[in-house]
Amino acid sequence: MSSALVFFTDLNSAPGKAQRELLTLASRFDTTIVAVASEISTEAREVLGNYAIDTVWQAANTGHGFGEHELAVLDTALQQTDADLVLLGNDSFSREIGARIAVRRQAALVTDVIDVSAELIATKDELAGSYSASVKSTTGVLIAAVKPNSIDDAPLAAPGTVQVNDLELQSAQESLVSVVAVEDKVASERPSLSEARVVVAGGRGVDGDFGPLEDLADALGAAIGASRAATDAGWISHDAQVGQTGITVSPQLYISAGISGAIQQKAGMQTSKFIIAVNKDVDAPVFEIADLGIVGDLSKVLPQAAAEIRRRRA
Ligand SMILES: Cc1cc2nc3c(=O)[nH]c(=O)nc-3n(C[C@H](O)[C@H](O)[C@H](O)COP(=O)(O)OP(=O)(O)OC[C@H]3O[C@@H](n4cnc5c(N)ncnc54)[C@H](O)[C@@H]3O)c2cc1C
Repeated sequence: MSSALVFFTDLNSAPGKAQRELLTLASRFDTTIVAVASEISTEAREVLGNYAIDTVWQAANTGHGFGEHELAVLDTALQQTDADLVLLGNDSFSREIGARIAVRRQAALVTDVIDVSAELIATKDELAGSYSASVKSTTGVLIAAVKPNSIDDAPLAAPGTVQVNDLELQSAQESLVSVVAVEDKVASERPSLSEARVVVAGGRGVDGDFGPLEDLADALGAAIGASRAATDAGWISHDAQVGQTGITVSPQLYISAGISGAIQQKAGMQTSKFIIAVNKDVDAPVFEIADLGIVGDLSKVLPQAAAEIRRRRA
């Protein structure tokens, strides 16, 4: 009998695709528990009813900390279950919580997971998807941070309703730091970079003007990504950086424009299903991994592509 515990840092709105993938994966195990470090919204409760979940816990977050609340929720949930497996997101905050709980409980954290078998063997991407490895925990619970777009979302044919219970925290800890200011980010209409099915990414070749990329992204419903050269230049926020020291993406389509294709950039996007590269240098390394290469000036190619997509969709 194996038991999977899905941990979400919050469910203030309906679960996104990556979160639903975690629910699908968890529901393959004998017992499925969900612990959420926030109150669960009405929309989220409805979606949870689409999966075979045995227990749902919520614990409202009343303050700003550095993950202490989230850590206490996951720790308490683990104390109250015999979960063999914790599933959480592969975003940096979830992985941080995973690492901290792993230290606290002498458990194994495996990141970049793309599947977990019934025998609790995690399959994970190595070296940015160059090969995959099968990993088994040799100690206690396996904590798996699962990459988005790895699992086929499979809700129940006959959805039900879930009962949400309040989790009484056992292990709240004093924070060693205090937060002196919190600034909300301006919400974007675009899909989140790590989950988007289409990413349009720009590099030094955009020369400070992401306008043509944003226009193409709007035409495609895509997220915007960037190389480190572009984020370091301050042309776009650091959150958009794709690569070894940025976000790893694996969309259906990655359009790389004005990016040379350095190894550190490839590390974050080479598992994309289809790669289109636009570069004016025929020898740019990005063409080695591109499924379709366009040698040309992005300021001419991208507007034509956006116009043609809009024309065909009209
Ligand atoms: C430890 C470490 C970690 C790093 N992590 C990352 C990371 O996470 N992500 C990342 O991206 N990089 C990372 N880098 C940096 C990486 O090595 C490269 O320097 C960076 O990716 C280069 O960005 P770029 O391709 O935009 O710029 P460049 O290499 O300068 O390439 C610009 C490209 O644009 C093309 N171009 C110019 N004008 C046009 C035009 N008008 N139309 C079409 N094409 C045009 C050029 O032909 C060229 O190929 C890291 C480096 C180190 C050492």
